[in-house]
Amino acid sequence: MAIMRDYNRNPFIVIWEVTRMCPLHCLHCRAAAQLHPYPGELTTDEGKMLIDEIYSMDNPLLVFSGGDPLMRKDIFELIDYAAKKGLRVSITPSATPKLTRKNILRAKEAGIARWALSLDGPDAKTHDYFRGFSGTFDRTMKTIEMLNELKAPFQINTTVTQYNVDKLPEIADLMAKCGAVVWTLFFLVPTGRGKLLQPISPEQHDQVMHWAFQLQEHAPFHITTTEGQFYRRVMFQENEKRRAHGLAPIGRFQDDLAKAPRGTNDGNGFIFVGHTGEVEPSGFLPLTCGNVKETPLPEIYRKSSILRNLRNPNSYKGKCGVCEFRNLCGGSRARAYALTGDYQASDPYCIYVPQRLRTADAAR
Ligand code: SF4
Repeated sequence: MAIMRDYNRNPFIVIWEVTRMCPLHCLHCRAAAQLHPYPGELTTDEGKMLIDEIYSMDNPLLVFSGGDPLMRKDIFELIDYAAKKGLRVSITPSATPKLTRKNILRAKEAGIARWALSLDGPDAKTHDYFRGFSGTFDRTMKTIEMLNELKAPFQINTTVTQYNVDKLPEIADLMAKCGAVVWTLFFLVPTGRGKLLQPISPEQHDQVMHWAFQLQEHAPFHITTTEGQFYRRVMFQENEKRRAHGLAPIGRFQDDLAKAPRGTNDGNGFIFVGHTGEVEPSGFLPLTCGNVKETPLPEIYRKSSILRNLRNPNSYKGKCGVCEFRNLCGGSRARAYALTGDYQASDPYCIYVPQRLRTADAAR
């Protein structure tokens, strides 16, 4: 029997923003377009030391993100170093001319286990609007072709906003045709440049999640969410209904990256290391918990009071604090912070009314 990872000690996944360099101007990205390294970016040696520390935390998944990670001159050396240690490494490149067959092959040989590409629309008009550059949709499709040719597994990330919510079924069709192993729906957190985009309403969140659950039954890819923690509540409730009808539960993984033993949340099984080494609960929750240049990552992850609070759903306030799903779901801590200034507040976009509040209402 697999031993459950203790998120109080070790994360399931570490995202390292290896650089903020990127030629694109994506509307919701935390990185501003810049073609030269930002001052203070972790050096190759500092990066390797960080990789050692990550590995020591019971070997979590490691994602090289950016900016565009391929803009870092030492990226293949870092991938190689991490993979040789035994880490399972993913990369989230930007759709730029650096996505050549040669670079994909080099990264694959260095040990990249999975690629993650952004696709925010089923056509060039919708997608390129998000990315701030024409031609990024075509480049993404071309990259998918090359990844398929090279048998390199990939996932697609889609940021869900008012602008593209009606196009999700078309994106899903495209996903099925292109061979992605995972579709991750990013539910917008209005922070940084994400404030420029229009989020979907709380009711639409619920509708999209129920739609995704239905889609999952026959989709040839696995569906996950980022900052859509209450998808786990929707899955649980819908699977309860299926079980009551004698149907098998829905939800599976299709490639060799291990499934999270239980859901992660900002700072809880999930940790973000920024380009200068600052540690945050996630890329959408900009609260500095320490810096790996001064303190080893395991110490920051285990001891930071912010991270400890985030890992304690009993300390949450409002609906999330009394919700029977607070351990399974817990709501988006990043969204709570972005909209209320309190990372322990309730997720404002969840429409669920917890049992305790319904009982209290009925007793009045
Ligand atoms: S109230 Fe909070 S914990 Fe409960 S399902 Fe909604 S987001 Fe999750």
